[in-house]
Amino acid sequence: MSISSIDQAHIWHPLTQHKTSNAPTPIVRAEGAMLYAEDGTAYIDGIASWYTAMYGHCNPYIIEQVTAQMKTLDQIVFTGFTHAPATTLAQKVLEILPNNQQKIFFNDNGSTAVEAGIKMALQYHHNKGNTRNTLIAFENGFHGDTFGAMSVSGLSVYNGPFEEYFLQVERIPTPTKENLPHVLQLLETIIAKHPCAGFVYEPLVQGAAGMQIYDAIGLEAILKVCKENDIITIADEVMTGFGKTGKHFASLYLETYPDIICLSKALTAGLVPMSLTTCTQVVYDAFLDDTVAKGFFHAHTYSANPIACAAAIAGIDLLISDDIQLQIQHIHKRHSAFAKAIKTHPKAINIRVKGVIFALELHTEMERYGNVRNQLFKHFMDHGVCLRPLGNTIYILPPFVISDAQLDQIYKAIEEALEIF
Ligand SMILES: *Cc1c(COP(=O)(O)O)cnc(C)c1O
Repeated sequence: MSISSIDQAHIWHPLTQHKTSNAPTPIVRAEGAMLYAEDGTAYIDGIASWYTAMYGHCNPYIIEQVTAQMKTLDQIVFTGFTHAPATTLAQKVLEILPNNQQKIFFNDNGSTAVEAGIKMALQYHHNKGNTRNTLIAFENGFHGDTFGAMSVSGLSVYNGPFEEYFLQVERIPTPTKENLPHVLQLLETIIAKHPCAGFVYEPLVQGAAGMQIYDAIGLEAILKVCKENDIITIADEVMTGFGKTGKHFASLYLETYPDIICLSKALTAGLVPMSLTTCTQVVYDAFLDDTVAKGFFHAHTYSANPIACAAAIAGIDLLISDDIQLQIQHIHKRHSAFAKAIKTHPKAINIRVKGVIFALELHTEMERYGNVRNQLFKHFMDHGVCLRPLGNTIYILPPFVISDAQLDQIYKAIEEALEIF
């Protein structure tokens, strides 16, 4: 039976239930950087299916590893039991993470990775006998859709109906060279006024905010102030993790490493959901006690699912391979050349490149989920390119395995959009 004939009426699609949204496109197959629709149309996956399938869809190496794992051990409760896929993954991920990370906690998606990070920060202080109830976060950040993650997210378009149930959060703007003194002063004022437990941030690139890139020197200064005040720093690398910014993790661009790091999306290479919340020995030690109540009573049924671990191990194998590292450099060079080529176009503003991330703002009035935005989305689809503009932000975050010809097709579709919109 074809997908089109299945009754779509019973599917509640995320983010698209408002009446003006485009009808979903039935996809039947994916391979490498390509998506294939039921009607035979091929699309280049210019956003790696929300930054997950970075090594290409249905990657044969990953499938082989995951299949072998499926035949050996599918699932085992991770409380009171352990297994090699989990320990191997922990070892492999610690080898590439900032070197202050020591412990790996398993969750099943980006939101719950952040949720666990927030709970760790709050309980860290609770266990030390401090009452610290306030979190600090950036304006316009996005950290997920569970309550803690929503609380620290700053994009109110998503969160309006829930705001009165949120955790206590104080917000600061992302730093620029110009506003840094102001941001640091605001931070000091917040710290003096509120007992701050943690600071949650997307390091260097705010994804859902529209791939906004901000100042590393400013972030460094903010992190230093947090450290001086024993405020647990929580880097949400759910989007930035695993090579997208050019380094394995965005936090590696900084000298001050976070106390906690949240990982998901590309972690499992687009095959199955999983996430990690990693932390330092100091954070972990605050939970290690003879009193049971000081433990971290947080667990998900599918914690450290062996199949998901196998996908993550295979993904890291590929990430650190010469092939993928060269591709990351190559995509960065291509993006930079494209940015230069359209630099003076009157419709392209704030063009930016970080690692394999390319973004620009279209100089046109547009609502985040409005009609023009939907026409822009359709423009790309009509050109065989899957890009999902965030309002007037057009961005590319392609699978590392994308070819030059595929990149050319994306660039061309963007150049044409600059003429039309
Ligand atoms: C996608 C994302 C999340 C949420 O992850 P889910 O797996 O969708 O719950 C959290 N933080 C950032 C930075 C993200 O990009």
